[in-house]
Amino acid sequence: MKSAGRILVVGGGALGMLSALMLATAGESVAVLEAGEAGRESSWAGGGIVSPLYPWRYSAAVTALAHWSQDFYPGFGQRLLAQTGLDPEVHVTGLHWLDLDDEAEALSWAEREGRDLHSVDIASVYRQVPVLGAGFARAIHLPGVANVRNPRLVKALRAALAAMPNVEIREHCPVTGFIREDGRIRGVTTGTESIRAERVVLAAGAWSGELLKTLGLELPVEPVKGQMILYKCAEDFLPSMVLAKGRYAIPRRDGHILVGSTLEYAGFDKTPTDTALESLKASAEELLPALAGAQVVGHWAGLRPGSPEGIPFIGELPSHPGLWLNCGHFRNGLVLAPASCQLLVDLMQGGELIIDPAPYAPGNRLG
Ligand SMILES: Cc1cc2nc3c(=O)[nH]c(=O)nc-3n(C[C@H](O)[C@H](O)[C@H](O)COP(=O)(O)OP(=O)(O)OC[C@H]3O[C@@H](n4cnc5c(N)ncnc54)[C@H](O)[C@@H]3O)c2cc1C
Repeated sequence: MKSAGRILVVGGGALGMLSALMLATAGESVAVLEAGEAGRESSWAGGGIVSPLYPWRYSAAVTALAHWSQDFYPGFGQRLLAQTGLDPEVHVTGLHWLDLDDEAEALSWAEREGRDLHSVDIASVYRQVPVLGAGFARAIHLPGVANVRNPRLVKALRAALAAMPNVEIREHCPVTGFIREDGRIRGVTTGTESIRAERVVLAAGAWSGELLKTLGLELPVEPVKGQMILYKCAEDFLPSMVLAKGRYAIPRRDGHILVGSTLEYAGFDKTPTDTALESLKASAEELLPALAGAQVVGHWAGLRPGSPEGIPFIGELPSHPGLWLNCGHFRNGLVLAPASCQLLVDLMQGGELIIDPAPYAPGNRLG
């Protein structure tokens, strides 16, 4: 169903670009306004695990989005590859959690949710992952979990958008505020111009709260810095993602291994630090001792859009009709993106909804 008038999407991260792609596929005319270059912030910097790190510790609201998206990713990766020639590399490796304190909670969550998460004999883990560090005593395993290669996903999204006749991508176009007339949002302002539109979608990641301040609104979305390091190993070095004590190792298909991540409240500063480098290296070597002899080939930081309980804001702001939010995905923006963007499109077009939108509705959740 196509509705009249163009839609502006503010922010060209995974959430903004996938919102634009789904809106444009549904027949809407869309412009993505990106302050820098599309897909160079958190969506580039993340690990791309297609699961929350500890899914059982999240609310039903996060679980509902995650489960819908997990089923969507493999086909989505193939469609993007076919459309653009760029492969987001959805890599199904499974995930082993080691020596968890709340293993019983994890297992009862899995039973309730019908997920194939189960305890595994530690000897069989060492057989499957021979490079795993010594001394772990217990493990649980979720076989079907994938990771997606962030830089390639965002490149593929950008290319898919660029090929659509009803999409415009404007980079180096920082939005500074909103046009408000007769109580409605009618577009945005940039440093140099006013851009009018029927509707605006705010998907500016960690910066979303700053932009809403220009309307006198308090959106509880704040930057949460995450640092990550990268190694390059043989392709078959690590056959499964592994996670212990809050730190994880993610194998890409070509043998790159990402180890993350820190969780730092440091404003909008995203400078990588030596302290984090040392701490991440120590975690990497505890998980996979062979990495002690390997070189760190990358070290970076990104700013997650932190939100209360990691529940994103999806929907129209009742106090500001015409302004829609799709932001605040915190540690799970990649895994939650497909369901969040589909829900946004269904809400904007008045279609049948994939899940109950109430937990994400911005109405009651702003300060
Ligand atoms: C180290 C790390 C590890 C992570 N690991 C995972 C993981 O394994 N799995 C997972 O699901 N998630 C993970 N995440 C979280 C995930 O990356 C984020 O939740 C997700 O990328 C957020 O996407 P976004 O599009 O909202 O934000 P971003 O990707 O940050 O995009 C927002 C965009 O808005 C633009 N923008 C900002 N202000 C303006 C403005 N005024 N005008 C125009 N444009 C503007 C920015 O330039 C940016 O490009 C991780 C994050 C980090 C940092």
